[in-house]
Amino acid sequence: AKQTDKQQAMTFSEDRKARIDRQLLLERDLLTGIVNKQFELHFQPILAAESLKVIRLESLLRWKHPLLGYIPPVEFIPLAESSQAIVEIGYWVLFQACKAAKHLHNEGHTVQVAVNVSVIQLEQDHFAEDVIQILHKTGLPPEQLELEMTESAVMSFGRAPEAVQKLTEYGVAIALDDFGTGYSSLSYLRKLPIQSIKIDKAFVTELTEGTSDKTICAAITQLGHHLGLRVVAEGVENAEQVAILRMLGCDELQGYYFSKPLSWPDLLAYLSTRKAE
Ligand code: C2E
Ligand code: CA
Ligand code: CA
Ligand code: CA
Repeated sequence: AKQTDKQQAMTFSEDRKARIDRQLLLERDLLTGIVNKQFELHFQPILAAESLKVIRLESLLRWKHPLLGYIPPVEFIPLAESSQAIVEIGYWVLFQACKAAKHLHNEGHTVQVAVNVSVIQLEQDHFAEDVIQILHKTGLPPEQLELEMTESAVMSFGRAPEAVQKLTEYGVAIALDDFGTGYSSLSYLRKLPIQSIKIDKAFVTELTEGTSDKTICAAITQLGHHLGLRVVAEGVENAEQVAILRMLGCDELQGYYFSKPLSWPDLLAYLSTRKAE
């Protein structure tokens, strides 16, 4: 038994070392990843629940590391946040997303673009100014941009609320992402100029008739509507969820049932076939 314990301890510390080595490698390579064009933005359609028209695209970041291959955002975003690389990466994401939306407008596709923003970005001195500058440079009207923030980002002390206020006055829309998983967020719904809330996909994934998830989705939708907000459900994967969410009055739907996040060429193909319908 002694031997086994020792071996287990060995593999444990080796696993731990491997994990730390991987983190260090990824953290080191984040910034060169931009220069070396290893990042790509994908876009997932968000549809109006009634008409099922595509009204918005959420941009989602993808990283293909030269040695380790595809790294999921849940792994590299936290590393980018702790190393501050998210500031530069986030700027790149905003620029690419606005440029893409402007291009689509020129092609006759009027869709908004939604961009995920980290708390670290929001706390930068010039976040609001950077966003406004990007809108100027790309020529995208502010009304066509929505920033998705999590409750932790909006609630953090510091500059966040001020930047949010400024951007809203400029015409940029703000969505509260992953709604329902944070804490004491309700008072912030009153204080902050938010236009929409996204029900966390944890409540949507197992949504069926008669579940407590349905009660939660119903309550969030009503709350949102009473506060004059749009309510978006993400992680919609099947027809039953679509039916329930539409019945509950949810305004917008997003998920694999409609489309996965698409690469730029796939998005263009998707939009042109839908336009022809
Ligand atoms: P999120 O903002 O909550 O994005 C939704 C996630 O759900 C995306 O994962 C999307 O691909 C996935 N998803 C969409 N539809 C479905 C569905 O029907 N079922 C399931 N199971 N999943 C679905 P992804 O792309 O892996 O992104 C994960 C998280 O990484 C995002 O969660 C967001 O928090 C973060 N992230 C992604 N791109 C960026 C970025 O550019 N900047 C920042 N700061 N964070 C980002
Ligand atoms: Ca999001
Ligand atoms: Ca979300
Ligand atoms: Ca999330």
